Amino acid sequence: MLVTAETIDQLAWDKAESGLLPLIVQNAYSGKILMQGFVNQAALIKTFETGFVTFFSRSKQRLWTKGETSNHTLDLVELSTDCDSDSLIALAKPNGPTCHLGNETCWDEEGQPQLAFLSDLEQVIASRKGAEPESSYTARLYAKGVKRIAQKVGEEGVECALAATAGDKEELICESADLLYHLTVLLQSMDLEMNDVINKLKERHK
Ligand code: AMP
Ligand code: ZN
Ligand code: ZN
Ligand code: ZN
Repeated sequence: MLVTAETIDQLAWDKAESGLLPLIVQNAYSGKILMQGFVNQAALIKTFETGFVTFFSRSKQRLWTKGETSNHTLDLVELSTDCDSDSLIALAKPNGPTCHLGNETCWDEEGQPQLAFLSDLEQVIASRKGAEPESSYTARLYAKGVKRIAQKVGEEGVECALAATAGDKEELICESADLLYHLTVLLQSMDLEMNDVINKLKERHK
């Protein structure tokens, strides 16, 4: 259930120990779990006021906006609560590493959903737009233009089909990787993203 500034007081504060509810921050792009902290009502009010995820720090015993000293803030995208309103998830766009140890998340990469990697890859591919062609293969592809990238997607698609027809699983994995990578570059070069495709798939799923 979505939580707004107006519905903060409807959360299960009566069940909250010391007025605190747990809040999990999830990367809005990839779904990776970034960190977990505790919030009181004031922390949520400040989160909505500023647009930056803000906690009640149990060690500092005060409101704590993540990134207040490191600048590694978390832009709130959406706040939601679970079935009995005693636990929260904030979808956020991180500005820099979220863990104070310098890592992207406070948990090990292995513990994150496997599919999140596609989103990481898409972010890297997007970041290569306008980069010097000599600096990377992706930048060179963009420089060659949509037609050449589209041609690569066609080639990799055919290579996938040939590998499958030959019954070569190892080759099919390699060619599928080529296809997914080039398709992501093609979408980006047309100013589209994976989410546009996912939304279409969801639409058809209804
Ligand atoms: P920051 O909010 O990023 O400016 O960090 C300030 C302080 O908050 C750090 O020195 C840590 O003590 C603590 N801190 C920062 N990030 C985290 C995190 N992801 N989990 C727990 N504590 C954190
Ligand atoms: Zn619950
Ligand atoms: Zn951490
Ligand atoms: Zn290939």
